[in-house]
Amino acid sequence: MSRLDLFIARMVSQRACLDHANDLTKGMEGPVFELGLGNGRTYHHMVETMPDRDIYVFERAVASHPDSTPPDDRLILGDVYDTLPAALGRFGPTAALIHADLGGHNRAKNDAFARAISPLVEPLLAKGGIMVASDRMYFDALEELPLPPDAFPGRCFIYRAS
Ligand code: SAM
Repeated sequence: MSRLDLFIARMVSQRACLDHANDLTKGMEGPVFELGLGNGRTYHHMVETMPDRDIYVFERAVASHPDSTPPDDRLILGDVYDTLPAALGRFGPTAALIHADLGGHNRAKNDAFARAISPLVEPLLAKGGIMVASDRMYFDALEELPLPPDAFPGRCFIYRAS
């Protein structure tokens, strides 16, 4: 696959997995967490497709497109190593959906980071809550789910809390 193919596969997979997670969590009332705002493309998709949900964004430095910048009261600014444990104190195990796209271009670094934050993410999910991640996560108790038909294996991962 060319780098262009890989990029397209990641984008298509993010959209397919987010839409699937939205369907799987319909009716759940807890908040939705976006980990890593970046340009704000996936955040914007979530706002468009989940208009009735409370979406909180975790980001250390906002540099998003103006159309895709969360309001101040939905932005949790700082390093996720600090803000995820703080979010557990604030929200408890209530999140209906968590999407993480925190990685960069270094696959080994992304894997180490995913390993390190997995125990910080896992307790935030409500029973039945769904985690969508661009990198494989390392959870103790979450079940990995099959990908929706449009997603490319290895480009996106879905987990459910039971
Ligand atoms: N999904 C986004 C989009 O569609 O535009 C792209 C996200 S971008 C790949 C990753 C983002 O994660 C960057 O904005 C970066 O600042 C943020 N990030 C990476 N490590 C972080 C950390 N430890 N704490 C908070 N934010 C972090």
